[in-house]
Amino acid sequence: MSVSWVIADGASISYWFDSWTYLTKASQTTPDNTTRKYSLQMANHIGISQVILAGTVKWEFRFIWKLKIPPTVRVFGYLLLHGRLLTHDVMINRGLSCDTQCEVCHQCPLETAKHLFFQCGHARQVWRLLSSMLGFNLLQTGDTVQAIVSNSGRACQRRIPRSQWGTLFFAVCWFIWRNRNRKKFDGIESDPHWIAHQSIKESKLWRKFC
Ligand SMILES: [Zn+2]
Repeated sequence: MSVSWVIADGASISYWFDSWTYLTKASQTTPDNTTRKYSLQMANHIGISQVILAGTVKWEFRFIWKLKIPPTVRVFGYLLLHGRLLTHDVMINRGLSCDTQCEVCHQCPLETAKHLFFQCGHARQVWRLLSSMLGFNLLQTGDTVQAIVSNSGRACQRRIPRSQWGTLFFAVCWFIWRNRNRKKFDGIESDPHWIAHQSIKESKLWRKFC
């Protein structure tokens, strides 16, 4: 017998300590101890709704709430789009001590979201592989992360439905982020081929079950 419960607006659910996704508790799945420590200090029992509603939602990116992606990835996407994901530049701006260079290539002196997800050699290889597998370019250029996401959505609109593009796009970003954290904390790097295949496979599952 399976048991399920409704998250509703998330006001009564603890972001860090309740198992609100199939990925188990956020406090156990976030490998970035510095990130977690900082977040716990700031908001020990913060609810999902507080995480989601914090800050001003840019109208252009509200489509993320309609995508068929797990809640963890939705929050991740929200943070990415709003420049709040704890990459090294953001941590430094918040006064946290950390390394500055890119955790994946160790060649870029300052890890930013734009570099990590779209410019790093490892990430570019993932996008290239995906583009060749899909037959169209999923990654577009842009001055900012937001511009790249917008340009990608517009360019892909002629090839696949926007919802399908969004699920796949954030699946790729999610696996790039997980790879960065695994490399930073465990010294293990995922092969770009594996990330490309896994992103397609996982995004199909999300569209079916989320
Ligand atoms: Zn890099």
